[in-house]
Amino acid sequence: MKVPLLDLRPPLEELRNEIVEAVTQVIDSTRYIMGPEIDGLEKEISAYCGTNDAVGVSSGTDALLLALMVLDVGPGDFVLTSNFSFFATAGVVARLHATPVFVDIDPQTLNIDPESLSRVLAEMDSQTRKRVKAIIPVHLYGQCADMEAILKISSEYNIPVIEDGAQAIGAECEIDGQIRSAGSSGDFGCFSFFPSKNLGGVGDGGIVTVNNSEMADQLRLKRVHGGERKYYHRVIGGNFRLDPIQAAVIRVKLPHLNKWHRQRQDNAEHYNKLFAEKDLGGKVRTPFVGHSDNLQNPHIYNQYVIKAERRDELQSFLAENDIASEVYYPLPFHLQECFLHLGGKTGDFPVSEAAAEEVLALPVYPGMTKEMRETVVEQIAKYYQS
Ligand SMILES: *Cc1c(COP(=O)(O)O)cnc(C)c1O
Repeated sequence: MKVPLLDLRPPLEELRNEIVEAVTQVIDSTRYIMGPEIDGLEKEISAYCGTNDAVGVSSGTDALLLALMVLDVGPGDFVLTSNFSFFATAGVVARLHATPVFVDIDPQTLNIDPESLSRVLAEMDSQTRKRVKAIIPVHLYGQCADMEAILKISSEYNIPVIEDGAQAIGAECEIDGQIRSAGSSGDFGCFSFFPSKNLGGVGDGGIVTVNNSEMADQLRLKRVHGGERKYYHRVIGGNFRLDPIQAAVIRVKLPHLNKWHRQRQDNAEHYNKLFAEKDLGGKVRTPFVGHSDNLQNPHIYNQYVIKAERRDELQSFLAENDIASEVYYPLPFHLQECFLHLGGKTGDFPVSEAAAEEVLALPVYPGMTKEMRETVVEQIAKYYQS
């Protein structure tokens, strides 16, 4: 049996007619830039995430970039972020000629570790600390970072928080006893509609959630080259607009999102059960969920990531047996070639370095069969028992 990492067909088949009709309507409208689909999606996403507003943008990367531009991040500034994420999280900081400051992760959730964050800030000299313009926690794999602790630290130092929720739209956490959705408790929430995310379009797209109306105005201004009046520019922005075809597709999919989250959660529970039955003696550790299970979405499993002994060999063995898997991510930021000039060395971030050697994402997409998951776990057990 062949098991792919992801198959986008089941949700497409489920909604094919509605999706094709929505795309056709945009094409027939001849309204190809901004327009009602963007306005509609912004209202629906802000309602879904529990924020006052949302601003559609061209990608998850541009969501982060635009949020940093609204905070006027530039040369000489610093931005603190997790050392273990998709490249975009740190890349956007460097693109603005600011310096990313990496923070190690929690060994269980693999999200930014609040204690390390606190320590990094405490150890900075006051000149540097004054120029820390943002903290970017990442809600890795579909589970929120410890926002309660992060917000305490950020408010102590008065530093804005940009949540990288690209993998976690709809994931929840509790803050002071209140249930909060990813992207609703920081100053900005950045999301991606890249096709492999839980809410994926038919191309690139993204959105920024925001509560503050002045910040929302700034996002909208810088989304269109900073021009309030056409051809007059007070500030510099970019072309960060969301394509209305993507917005139309996402609007068809959004009402189904919680059901797809549920299917991923069921798949994850099934994997957990299968691994427990195989009893691989600690060679495979299933994902840790840190948030209380009275939440509807304590984890939305954009990725189901195990920690595995002899991970690379296991991955090759699975590939030989037609089972796809992926390593998110094989190299932490401080060891990326483009960031070596910042002085990072092996050993500086032991938790992210260990994670980079152990993590392996298994197929968890909605529509995969029970037999597929059984095959995956059987092959993993076979690898360790041989
Ligand atoms: C996917 C992703 C992004 C970037 O989103 P794009 O839409 O691909 O630009 C940023 N951060 C994280 C954590 C992601 O997973």
